[in-house]
Amino acid sequence: MNTRILLVEDEPAIAEIVEFALTSEGFQVLWRSLARDAETELAAGSCDLLILDLGLPDGSGLELLKRLRRVSELPTLILSARNAELDRVLGLELGADDYVTKPFSPRELAARVKAILKRASRPAAVVETGSAETSFDLDEVRAVIRYRGHALNLTRYEYLLLKTLLAQPERVFSRAQLMDQAWPDPAASFDRAVDTHIKTLRAKLREIDPQCDPIRTHRGLGYSAQLRNLP
Ligand code: CA
Repeated sequence: MNTRILLVEDEPAIAEIVEFALTSEGFQVLWRSLARDAETELAAGSCDLLILDLGLPDGSGLELLKRLRRVSELPTLILSARNAELDRVLGLELGADDYVTKPFSPRELAARVKAILKRASRPAAVVETGSAETSFDLDEVRAVIRYRGHALNLTRYEYLLLKTLLAQPERVFSRAQLMDQAWPDPAASFDRAVDTHIKTLRAKLREIDPQCDPIRTHRGLGYSAQLRNLP
């Protein structure tokens, strides 16, 4: 069955580009230019992913997303001309899976859509570790990471840091790389910020298992997740 994508975009020229990019990848695209029409489609529940413009003639895409998230985890990509930091952060905090700024590359957009669908098809990806006991469970849909069965109560930065480390266990990430992944505006932060969040993150992991430190510090290099050979 075809994957159906609901595109909510009021500019026909942009909608056409998106539709072309996605249909050439085999997706079925349903285009709506008004928020209220989009909500009718969303209520019908027949779509697999939502691409959402923020500035719509009859309302804000963010409001639509907020209402949607009360009832549905439908994978959502925000497509917006508004590159305001606040919109991006708000969109992601409201539960958007990704955020693409106009002007955009249609190929990149299609690649991001595929990546979101791939992630959504395995909502509770288990990071492979030596034994089930030491595993982290990353639930990207709910932005929750469980460590040895306990859901960690993480700040947004701690979550993004740990998620980045777990994505490639044993890879050493420099502070700059971690900052790129976890901070919307790296230039505004300092290396120390990473150290501070790693410290609070370690404290939370220690509360669950005082004997273990799955995050290794590499002096002068950065940090990595070490999942093998944990006691
Ligand atoms: Ca618009």
